[in-house]
Formats: sequence, C-alpha cells, structure tokens
Amino acid sequence: MNEISHDIDDPYRLPRHVRPTRYQLTLEPDLAGATFQGRATIALTVQRLTRVIVCNALEMAIDEAIVEAVEGRRQTASVTLDESQQRCRLTVPEPLDPGAWQLHLRFRGTLNDKLRGFYRSTYTDQRGSQQTIAATQFEATDARRAFPCWDEPDFKAVFSTTLVIDESLTAVSNSHVVSEARERGKKIVRFADTIKMSTYLVAFVVGRMEASAPSVVGNTRLQLWTVPGKTHLTGFGQEVAAASLHFFEDYYGIPYPGDKLDLLAIPDFASGAMENLGAITFRETALLVDQRTGTHGELQRVADVVAHENAHMWFGDLVTMSWWNGLWLNEAFATFMEMLAVDAWKPEWKRWDAFGASRGAAFAVDGLHSTRPIEFPVRAPKDAEAMFDVLTYEKGASVLRMLEQHIGPTVFRDGVREYLRAHAYGNADTKDLWVSIGTASNQAVPDLMNGWIFQPGYPLVTAELTNQCELVLSQQRFSYLPDPPSATWQVPVQLRVQRGAAAEGEVRRVLLTGTRLNVSCPPDTKFILVNEGGHGFYRVRYGPNLWKRLLEAGLEKLAPIERLNLVNDAWATTIAGLMPLSDYLDLTSRFALERDKNVWAVLLDSFAFLNRIIEPADRAGLESFVRSRVGEAAAAVGWTRQPGESDLTRQLRGELIGALGRLGNDPATQARAHELYAAARKDPAAIDPNLLPALVSILAFIGDAARYEDFRTRFKTAATPQEERRYLFSLAMFRQTALLDRTLDMTLNGEIRLQDAPFMVSAVMGNVYGRERGWQFVKMNWDQLDRRFPKQGLRRMCGGITGFCKPELERDVREFFQARQVDLGGKTLEQYLEQLRIGVSFGERSRRDLQVFLRNNQYSPEAAQTGFHG
Ligand SMILES: [Zn+2]
Repeated sequence: MNEISHDIDDPYRLPRHVRPTRYQLTLEPDLAGATFQGRATIALTVQRLTRVIVCNALEMAIDEAIVEAVEGRRQTASVTLDESQQRCRLTVPEPLDPGAWQLHLRFRGTLNDKLRGFYRSTYTDQRGSQQTIAATQFEATDARRAFPCWDEPDFKAVFSTTLVIDESLTAVSNSHVVSEARERGKKIVRFADTIKMSTYLVAFVVGRMEASAPSVVGNTRLQLWTVPGKTHLTGFGQEVAAASLHFFEDYYGIPYPGDKLDLLAIPDFASGAMENLGAITFRETALLVDQRTGTHGELQRVADVVAHENAHMWFGDLVTMSWWNGLWLNEAFATFMEMLAVDAWKPEWKRWDAFGASRGAAFAVDGLHSTRPIEFPVRAPKDAEAMFDVLTYEKGASVLRMLEQHIGPTVFRDGVREYLRAHAYGNADTKDLWVSIGTASNQAVPDLMNGWIFQPGYPLVTAELTNQCELVLSQQRFSYLPDPPSATWQVPVQLRVQRGAAAEGEVRRVLLTGTRLNVSCPPDTKFILVNEGGHGFYRVRYGPNLWKRLLEAGLEKLAPIERLNLVNDAWATTIAGLMPLSDYLDLTSRFALERDKNVWAVLLDSFAFLNRIIEPADRAGLESFVRSRVGEAAAAVGWTRQPGESDLTRQLRGELIGALGRLGNDPATQARAHELYAAARKDPAAIDPNLLPALVSILAFIGDAARYEDFRTRFKTAATPQEERRYLFSLAMFRQTALLDRTLDMTLNGEIRLQDAPFMVSAVMGNVYGRERGWQFVKMNWDQLDRRFPKQGLRRMCGGITGFCKPELERDVREFFQARQVDLGGKTLEQYLEQLRIGVSFGERSRRDLQVFLRNNQYSPEAAQTGFHG
C-alpha cells in the first residue's frame, strides 16, 4: 500500500515513501573530548521509485552515506543537512526501486551539556575528582542529535546497538548485552535486538557505574545503577520496581515487553525520569533514597516515579501514540497506573487521597481562560514540548480515574487489555482507546469522554435543594476570572444522600448532560454530598440551604478526600469571587480536629496565598490567625512519634510544625526547632526523619549568615540525594535578601546543577521576602539564563512569577516579556500571566476584607498564644 500521507515539503512531518525497519548502530563516545563518532546501517523499505531519502539529523556531521541494494550494488549519496528543519536529505544518482535497501552512514557529533540528545553529566566522585557520564534523553525529538533517524513516533523499528567505550567504563542500553570484546584498548559492547519501537525510547548510558544485586520478576532481570558509592541507596527503588513490574504484568495481562530492566540514576537529568524501554533513566532524587532517613514524601516520590516509568513499558513503549497530539495517552495513563500500582503496594499510604493534590494542580491551570484541551492538533513537535504539563498528566489521569469509577474498575481494565493487545508493537490514537473501552463497557465512551479530552476547562456543578426536596444540579464552566466561554460536559455525578435516621448515606449516580438536572430526594433528606468518593473532575458549589445542612451534619461525616475537595472548591470559588473571603476563613475554623495531611495541605496552601497578598503591616495578624488555626492540631500530634502511628501522621506532624514556625512565625516553635535540630546533628536518630524538613525550613526562615553557610555546606556534603535537595532548597527560604542574592548567584556560577538551578530561581521568586530580588535577577540575567538553562527548565523558572500578587510587579513582568518577545512554548506564558493577574486582582479585592476579618476577630500579635510546647 502506498501511504505517502505527508508531502516531502511538509516542514514538520517526514515523507513516508522510505521507512526504516532496523537500525544497526555503533557509537563511540569520547567522554573527555565531549564528542562521539558513529556508524549506522539502516534497513529501509522503499515504497515508490525515488532518488531522495529524507530523515532527521541535528548538530552533527555526516561524513559518508552509501545506499546498498540487496544484491550488493552500492551508490554514494550526496548529503544536504538542513539545521533549521533538523533534517538530512540524501540524494542518489540512480533511482531506488520499491523494495528493501540498506543505508550506511558515518557521522560525528558532540556530547553536549544541554541535558538532551547524547549529553554529558559530570559529578565529583568519592575521592573528589571530576567524573563524566554520557547519557541520553531523546523524548520528544532529540534522538536526531545522536544518530540520523526517522525521528517520529510511528516510524517504529528494531534497534541493534554496539557501544565502543574505554575499558574502565560500563555501558547500558535498552536490551541485554550479547557480547563484550576488547580491541585496540577499547571495550566493544554489543546489545541484543530490541522490540520494534520508536526512536525517542532509545537510550545509551556510558560511564563508571555500579549495579545493585539483581532481582528477578517473572522472566525479567531487574537492576538499579548508580555512580560509584551509591548502591546502598537502591533497596527501596528496587523493591517498588519489582512490586510494580509484577502488578503491571498482572493488570495488563501481558508479560513485560523487554528482555531485562535497568533503572539508572543520572547525576544531571532534566526531567524526573524517562521511560526508555529496558533502560529507564532517572534524576537521583527520583530513584535513590535511604529508607531510614527519607521522609514519607520522599519515599512516595520514588515509588511514584518508578511505578510511572514501569507503567510506560506497556503504555507508551509497547503501544505508542501515533503523533505528539496523543501524548496524553502515554502520560495520563502512566500517571493513572502509577497511582493504582502504588496504592496496591502500600494501601496504608492512601495514594488516591493524596492524588487530590495533583487533581487540585490540574484544576488550578484548567480554571484559566488560557487553558487548553488535553488533546489538540499538533503540527510542530516543539508545540508538543509544552504539553508536558499538569493538563496532560494530572488532568488526564483524573478524567481516566473518573471514567474508571464510572464504568467499574474491572470493565475498565478489560478495555485497557484489549487496547494493548490490539495495538502491540504499533501506534494508536485516542479513538482506539475509546473503541476498546467502549467494547468492554458496552457504553458510548466517546460521547462521555470527548468533552473532557477535546474541550478546555471543566464544570462548576452547583447544587441546590428546593423546599419540595428536589435536588437541582446545574453546570457552567469554572473560571477564576469573569466570563469564561460557555461549555457543558457529560458529568458523571456521584451523590450521597443522607436521610434522617439512616446510619449510612445512600450513594446515587446520575449523569448531568445538559445545563440542568433535577433529582428527587426523600422528604427526610438530612444532607447531600455531591462528588461522593471525590473522583469527579469538577468543582462543587452548594446553595445556602445545602451548605448549612452539610456544615451542621459535621465535616467528620465526610471521607478525607471529600473534605479535601470541599476545602479546595471553597477556596477556589473564593478566589473566583463566588464566595466571600470571611465565609472561607470561618470554614477553616472547623478543622481543629482534622488529622488528614492532604486536607491540611490544602488549608495551609490557602494560608500561604493570603500571606502573599497581605500588607506587611497586617502580617502579624495573619500570623496570629495561622497559629490559632494550626495550633490545636499541632499540639495534638505533638513533636514526637507515637507508637503505632501511620506514615501519614508522621508527615502531617512535619507540615503542621513547619507552618507554625514559618507562616505562624511562632517563637516557641522556632525555639524548639532550634533545640531539636541541634540534637539531631549529634544523633540523627534523635528525631523522626519526617520532622527534619520542617526544622530545616524554620531555621532557614529565622536564619542568619552563619546558618546560611552551615546549610550551604550541608548541601555540598549531603549523604543522600534527598538531603542534598533539602539543604539546597533551604537556601531559597531565608528572609535576608543578601543571602537570597548569594543563592541566585549560585544558579549561574555552576555551584548548583543545571537540573536544579531553574527551580531554585523559581523558589526565590516564590519566597515572599525574595520575590523582588528573584525577579530583578531574572531580568538582569535573562540572556544568560536563556542560553544556559534547558528549555523546560527555563519554562519552570518563569513559573515563579505566578505568585507575585503585586500590581507593580505584574506591570513590570508584562512589559519585560512583551519587550523580549519571550515564547515559553504553547500557552505557558499566557497561563503564567493569567495566574499572576488572578493573584493581583484577588489581592486588590480581598486585602481590605482580610484586614477587617483579622481585626474583628482579634487576631493581633499578642492574641492566640499557642502555648505549643508539646
Ligand atoms: Zn511519563
């Protein structure tokens, strides 16, 4: 079949008349010289008579290109490289007939320091000398920087890789090693053929590395790799890798598609991790952890990322989206599966409750006018880069969870199995997934789901109870700023109707398809909870009657995830101007008995937001308010670990104490933090590890230059990636601007790794005491930051502007980006600016109300002494 769907002149898609089926690659990296040489023999299928072969290549020289026929006839191709289109065009003197051909290439390139393509990562070894690792990061379109290739996800092929390396080094790639030979002082490592897969999943890692003792799951040998001296940090990651691999083989009903599984911790890594088939790469904090000193949050992060990447081995690697518009299929699914796997492995972590925070992050961006649909047409791959965001991952996973709960987990799983079986080793689109799930569920899945996938935003469901006990549900698009474009969704609404005498509420499912739906309720209805179970991707707003009944019944009647949603929705509607701030602040007084860390996280976030809008003169009142809200729960949880306490309570302790010490500026808490930190320095076992981040953040908050120097040293000499990260980020939490200036300087002078530097700048901008300095720094050094930081890092850095909440900063930010014509990809900048606008306008509207509330309720610096000494 002739399938030339893309014209040879299409700037974004390669022509389809020549397709690769197998790459035989030999790469020889020179780590010291930061270059590499390569050879490739690519088996091609030519589909129509042609003299031209077009593939992708970037930042490399091609020294030779020969096209060989099956019978051995060879002709040399002339090579034209087009850097702007990232392409290589090969032209042969005599036309190639349809059929099988081989292309032989010799090429050269550089091992760059941009954390993409084939790049070098440097680290200081245990003896204090500089070492280099060569690693790869190809998604989305950087395989073309390492070898000439058809760098689009639907050009799947088999890869047979050989790495020629120094004898003292180790090489890892996607498949197992079939032979290792020594020649001319070099080690020649040959890897087995991979499955048919996309170029963006190819990986090579070369350097001094050590592996953990392997474990075997089913038929798969599983190992973790680190730079020398860190294998003692692999135990936890290996455990979750094995558990999740087992879980996925079972859930998908398909054996792991690779021939071995290596997980590698790379000292410099732009994102969290990358799902290269059989050779998953991670930043160190996402894979290596000391189980005894890691906090619950740090351990959960490793579990999440490992499970996420393992989930991709099927969803993404075995079955791949046809083009980048379908990225959500990969990412939303892997995020959803990560939750399922971690929840199955550690049910006591209540992973789906904690997912409420992720859903909240998606709500925040998707509540903007400048949001986008989960899936939209993508022509240029660069537009896909901005798709790696909360809408693709967290909103995508949220709507999948909503669908799963709506049709039932077993039916959903059967649909997923069918989808993977039908498209294994190939590519698929969103509609293919709906066909499989639709067949399994016998439901019109596209009708239900298309609104959530192809339409921006989400509904605000308003619930009102009439005097005749009729529940009226209505929907409109939620937005923080006024007048969003109107839209409706098919909303699966789950209700809990509590009757007067009944012990348990009755769960009811309805589908809200239009703007309104009336549901009749029994006359003795006591209260109604909308979004029962908390899985729906919509916000809820109750009419006065229902709101009053819900509060009178008592919030303890709700599950933690339902309380989380209640607070989150109330806070969002407050920012949107649909709820008076004083009502929200009153609501927060009902959580003195709350012991769920996820609910507290939402409350504390809202207090932190108030801290951004408040005038310095009123800050002491807000601090007093925070102490009054947090004090009781903090006193109840205490400073020390209790026997039989859950991991979640231990983490809650850290969060509450951290909030009291910083947002509450509580002297007693600060003094105690000081004491305990000193004790922990002498004996790390003296305190619960979950408390340490709070102590460090409090001491930074009240810290001086000596403390800064101490934390900076701790950052540089840390024993684990988590400790390194903790002390690093503490350097953005000080209040003295001279110290924050030093932190900012470190992001440019190489003291802070490129993978972390953009986040540090963002953290200083997010510090109420550092926002002006951070912004000044960005303005002054923009060219250098733009040149130095990886693209996605620069994007993350600019996210720091969203919390400025000051009109004069907003004006300056807008002028700067306008004058510089900055493009962060997709709608990223537009979204940041809208978030900034929302914060400023909320501040202008609410500053006065907040002041009045604090004064009326006597939140003065002297009031509400916590007496919190635990
Ligand atoms: Zn992913």
